[in-house]
Formats: sequence, C-alpha cells, structure tokens
Amino acid sequence: MVKKLFFLLCMFIFIGLAYDVHAQTINERIAGKDRFEVAVNISKKGWTDGSDVVILANYNAFADALSASTLAYKYNAPILLTHGDRLTDSTREEIRRLMPREVIVIGGYATISSDVINQLKQIGVSTVRRIDGKDRYEVAYNIANELPASQTVIIAYGLAFADALTIAPYAAQNAYPILLSNKDNISNGVLRYISENNVNQIIIIGGEGSISKKIENELQENRSVTRISGADRYEVSVNIAKQLMGSNRKFFVASGLTFADALTGSILAAKENAPILLTRPNVLPSSIQSFIHQNSASQFVILGGNASVQQNIFDKMFGPLAGIKIVVDPGHGKRDTGAIGNGLLEKEVVLDIGNRLKTKLNRAGAIVIMTREDDSYPTLSERVEIAHKNGADAFVSIHLNSNEKSSPNGTETYWNSRYASEESKRLAEEIQKRLVKNLGTKDRGIKQGNFYVIKYTKIPSVLVEVAFISNPEDAKKMATSTYREKAAQAIFEGILQFYKSE
Ligand SMILES: [Zn+2]
Repeated sequence: MVKKLFFLLCMFIFIGLAYDVHAQTINERIAGKDRFEVAVNISKKGWTDGSDVVILANYNAFADALSASTLAYKYNAPILLTHGDRLTDSTREEIRRLMPREVIVIGGYATISSDVINQLKQIGVSTVRRIDGKDRYEVAYNIANELPASQTVIIAYGLAFADALTIAPYAAQNAYPILLSNKDNISNGVLRYISENNVNQIIIIGGEGSISKKIENELQENRSVTRISGADRYEVSVNIAKQLMGSNRKFFVASGLTFADALTGSILAAKENAPILLTRPNVLPSSIQSFIHQNSASQFVILGGNASVQQNIFDKMFGPLAGIKIVVDPGHGKRDTGAIGNGLLEKEVVLDIGNRLKTKLNRAGAIVIMTREDDSYPTLSERVEIAHKNGADAFVSIHLNSNEKSSPNGTETYWNSRYASEESKRLAEEIQKRLVKNLGTKDRGIKQGNFYVIKYTKIPSVLVEVAFISNPEDAKKMATSTYREKAAQAIFEGILQFYKSE
C-alpha cells in the first residue's frame, strides 16, 4: 500500500512538472537523458497499452530513417532508436513493455547489425524484419512500397533531415510516401515510384537549394507539382503547418539541428494531428514566433531535453509579448552625437538604454528590431523604413532632452496623430507615467510632436525624451547604469501594459 501511494505521488509530481498551464496554453515537454530515452518516453506517452509493431532506427544515421514515419503511422508503431551494434537498456526495456509481434529494422547491416537482431530475439520478439536498400533513396522507395499505392507523393531532399521530418506528420496521416532526391537529379527511387503508380500529384518540400527548379520542371510534365519552401528549415516547417495542416491549436516543437527527436516525435505528432515546428536550441526563429503569435497557438509539446530546446524558448512562446515585433530606435549615432551636456553624449546614453530595453523585450517573447545597436547612424527615413520593411507592430524612439538653460528638467513623451493616433497616444501615456515614477523626474506629460520618425511610421509610435541632459540633476541620473536600467524597465513596462490592455 505504501509502495502504491508512493507510486501515485510520483506520478502526480511527474504530471505536475510536465504540464505548465500558462494562461490558456498547455506546455508539455517530453524529455529524457539522451535521445534513446526521449524516444522511449514518446513511446510511453503514445502507446500506453503496448504495440504490435515497433520501428527501430539507428540513433546516429538519419538517412535511412527519413521516410520511416509513414510506415510507423501505418502500423501505429512507435519509432525507437538503437546503436548500430547494441540496444541501450532503455530501448530494450521499452520493447519488452510494448511486447511487439514484429520489429521492423530500418537500414542495412552496417546501420543496424545482426547483434541487435539477436538481442531482439533474446527478449522474445518473434519477427524481426529489415527494410533495406542500396542507398537512402532506395530505402525510401522500399518503404513507399509498403504503403498503399498512392498517386500523390512527397519529395524531400535526402541529404539533410529537416524537410523530410517536418512533412512527416502530414505525409503519414495521408499515407503519402516520402521519397528522397538530391538537388539536381531525380533519384531512381522517385522515377520508379512515379511511373509504377501513375503519380499525378507531387509535393516538393524545401527551396530550390534543396530540390532544384530543374527537377521541378521535369516532374511537372503531366503532373501537378506544388512546392512548399521557406528561407530556411524553420520557415519551411512553418509553411508546412500553414499551408497543409490547417487550423491547429497544438504543435510539436523539436530542435532543427538534430534529427532524432523530430524523427521519433513525428509519429506521435501525426497521431495527434499536430505539425512539427523546428527551432534553434536557444533562439526561437522569428518565423516561428510570428506564426505562433498569429495563430494564438494554445498547446505545445516540446520534444527533447533542455539541451535540444532550451527553456527560454518556452518563455518566448508564452511570454506576454510573444511574437510582437517592436522597433527600438536609439536616437542619433556616429557623427550625430545628439545633445551634449554634463559630460554626457546623448547618442551614448540612449544606445545603452535601448540595448537594455532590447534584453527585457526579448525575455518577454517580443521580436526586437534595433535601428542601431552600435555607434552607427541610420538616417531618419531609414529608421522608418526598418519598421515598415519588418512589419513591426510598434516603434519606440529614445532620446534625451536639452535646453540652453540648465534649469529645464523632467520627462516627456511624444506621439503624432498622422497614423495610428489613438494607439500612439495610449502607448505614450503608458510609458510616460512609468518613466516618471521609476526615475523620480518631473512629469512634463505627453505631447503631440512632429518628429520625423513618429510622423511617418504607420504603426503605433512614440518618441521618449527620458530626461534633460542639460540639467545637472537629470544628467547625474542618466550617467548611472542604475537609472538607465530603471528607464529601460519603465519603457518596457509601458509597452507591456499597452499590449495587455489592447
Ligand atoms: Zn535626440
């Protein structure tokens, strides 16, 4: 009884840790101490009652396994990983738990040796079958032939894993084979399959750097060919989700740099009708951020441990400013010093505040675009152009005020009524009141102003005059990192409140 209670308690703690309810988002991570264990934990989650079939792939050789997800889906089988010459303890235990009738081994003896087959037999697997081929293209062709004949096929680049794995959930659900090709010449596997099955519809995954235009043109004769591409593997994964997988609320997220988690997770994603998005381990690509923002995605399953997808990626997804693009514009730069006073150069102080603001916005999930990050000088029209070109959501210009006399002091924030006037005014209000409070400066209020950068940006935009560089008390504050940090914090909180009450 005590043992049972302890078990229940452990389960409770496990679930408690795995689910992080953040507003309306559910955030789950399937981790493990290595990729073998990640695969095992995926299997445990998706196949609680065992499985008739298990697919086994080499943990280190993605080439053969790229098309295996479609097969796994057909047999409702988890994909587990092995060394070339031996099963890990975790994989062996999981196969024991699943009690499969059959294990399908992907790849030749060089990829998975007969020692592994013997170990499978030793734990009671009665049938071990191998799907092999003289190269990855033929393996993919052979896997395709295990699926029902299909007049639609997917063609992905065979020399990198990303595209083939991100299309896997979609391919699997529709029983479309994933065939592989190199960049410039259609592989034999593709040619054979499309002629043997009268293929009339082809989906090419990846840009022309992966599968060339020449191949696309050749395939186009008598067939409809669609290409889903993107600037990089991350954007390809976004475009697959957008263009093929409809309106999902649930997404799987895997590292775009290692294949194992995406491979073993792809089948669970397919079962749950969820696309796989790829990310860098420590930076969420902006294409993914914008997508998440636009979709108000509500549920994420992260594949792999912290080394594969770092915790800050979660913060990015669920941060209060997730996906919002903000332009931070530290005024002046280079030969344009801005105002000078009390030993300070305006261009230096506002750059420091701007960079601090950037850090805070980033942590909250915003996509920050700096008009300058060093002592350079973009022109005023270039600064406006940066905002428009990037499709930014808001623009914040940072300046220090100055007067011939030393007595004028305090903080003021400008907005302009030409574009997004109501929002600009509200943003100015939110920032102004926090700056005054944080800095203890005189409140000069918000004002309408005709400064170029706020007049011509078509999005909510403000120009902040943090304090007077020409006033000794104000300048004394602006000389310290403590007050620059306070200023950045105030602007940050103002932006945060602006979006909260939107
Ligand atoms: Zn200025």
